[in-house]
Amino acid sequence: VKQAMGRAKIGLVAAALQLFGAKAPPSPVMLYAVGVADARHLAVEIRLTGSASGQTKLALPGQWAGTKELWRGVSDLAVEGGAVAGEGRFRTIRHPPGAALVVRYRVVSGGQEMDAGEKARPTVEPDWFFFHGEGVFATVEGRDKAPARFRWGRLPAGWKAASDLDYLRDRAGTVTDIVESTAVAGKDLALAARTVGPATLRVAAVGRWDFPADALAARVATIMAAEHAFWREPPEPFIVTLAPLPVQPGVSTFTGTGRGDGFSLLSTPGLNLDRATRVLAHEYMHRWVPFRLGGQPEEAAREFWFSEGFDDYLTSRVLYGSGIWTFADYLDDANRVLLRYATNPSRMASGAEIAAKFWQDPNIEQLPYDRGHLLALLLDARLRTASRGRIGLDDVLRAQRKAARTSKLTGAPLFLATLKAVTGRNMGGEIARIADGAAPLVLPANAFGPCARVETVRRPRFTRGFDLAATEAAGMSVRGTDPAGPAWSGGMRDGMRILAREAGEIGDASREIAYRVDDKGTERVIRYLPASRETFLVPQAVPAALGAVGATDAAACRRLLGGA
Ligand SMILES: [Zn+2]
Repeated sequence: VKQAMGRAKIGLVAAALQLFGAKAPPSPVMLYAVGVADARHLAVEIRLTGSASGQTKLALPGQWAGTKELWRGVSDLAVEGGAVAGEGRFRTIRHPPGAALVVRYRVVSGGQEMDAGEKARPTVEPDWFFFHGEGVFATVEGRDKAPARFRWGRLPAGWKAASDLDYLRDRAGTVTDIVESTAVAGKDLALAARTVGPATLRVAAVGRWDFPADALAARVATIMAAEHAFWREPPEPFIVTLAPLPVQPGVSTFTGTGRGDGFSLLSTPGLNLDRATRVLAHEYMHRWVPFRLGGQPEEAAREFWFSEGFDDYLTSRVLYGSGIWTFADYLDDANRVLLRYATNPSRMASGAEIAAKFWQDPNIEQLPYDRGHLLALLLDARLRTASRGRIGLDDVLRAQRKAARTSKLTGAPLFLATLKAVTGRNMGGEIARIADGAAPLVLPANAFGPCARVETVRRPRFTRGFDLAATEAAGMSVRGTDPAGPAWSGGMRDGMRILAREAGEIGDASREIAYRVDDKGTERVIRYLPASRETFLVPQAVPAALGAVGATDAAACRRLLGGA
């Protein structure tokens, strides 16, 4: 749900609520409700007024986040007040002109098939559910902008539910707001709330975590205050939902999904709040990038260099500027991005390739984040140099925030238009070539001002020291340990079963990696530097000589690189 819901209350529904009154008169407002049908299915109800032509076209959930044909999860579709016909995603309802219609159907759980790549499907368990609206809600052709409201349907006794949809109980949003939502409910739903300025932040979590819901709320509240300060806008109501992903041996996955007035988190067990800070701040930044900077087109992946990359850039900037990160944290993050981009085998992929393979190929998925992040750093340095420090990327983005109130352009083209308006320079062609992989992206040496220098350094190549593909094929039983490699030196042997990776970053040979393994019935942790003897050259930000960044300089760097 992306609209700002100024004074709306967050309703946290404490018990089963009644469905809409049976005698509700026909209304142009579409009324959505979700409840639980049984231990595996959600029950959806939509009340709407049929079109004057006597024929209304229903669009069941289509595709989202890499999952196609979501409509196949829909069953028991029935329409009161009309007759429904058709197969596939689109169904036709015939009815008396302007008839009051009630559409009802069930949506099956994605259940244990759900992983980070299948976040489009709802999860419905006997004592909780979680969903993103894209996998649940049908729409009516031509009514995406029609007013819509939401109520909870029938929930099992004792359940609580929370969602950004709660904002649409007392006032209407649009059908698009209904679809772009996240919800969580259950018997043991953990709820926490924090006041941030004039607004309330709520956290709603199901599952077992190593931290209380309030600790997550506290972390997000700090981020929320920092980001609103950056944008110079008062906080508004916000909700964070958290639900578990199925346990996959040896795999830790954590994914966030920005919703404009909330975000969702899905994670395998063991989510660590410190390690999650960057993702939390990134998801919160989506409130602006792209939603308050023009939004995104239907084919969103084409603009991911802006909506994800510029988001990542601003996230690092604000985390440093607000003091949540130190200068070392900030540089560490920048160097991680530089390394990942330089070693991404798909770094010259085109926008079309990204759109086609984003959800299937991890290298392609990461690319627009890093490409956009580095492009933003490049543009900021370029603008500051050209204007002798007067104008930076912040100024352009804040101007874009204003322009977005009246513009029909989506985030990326609105950025190009605003950049031209603010600077008087037309950099659209060059940016488009970099965003499309047609031109290489090279950070100038002064991209971090006097605080750090971009230099080309020699680094060892990353290696796990064992054969990951063969290990995965053997159910995470280690295969192919190289006796001359670092895993062997660290004590790893074929036949050990990997339970989890507890440290390290895939692709980064400079960070120690740690695997928890089952060694013939004994659990132990094996640590080593995942570096091969092979080396390569990579640009890295090297901090100004020790002592050169004194107290005054540190504040200047925080202003320059953190926008503080
Ligand atoms: Zn994102």
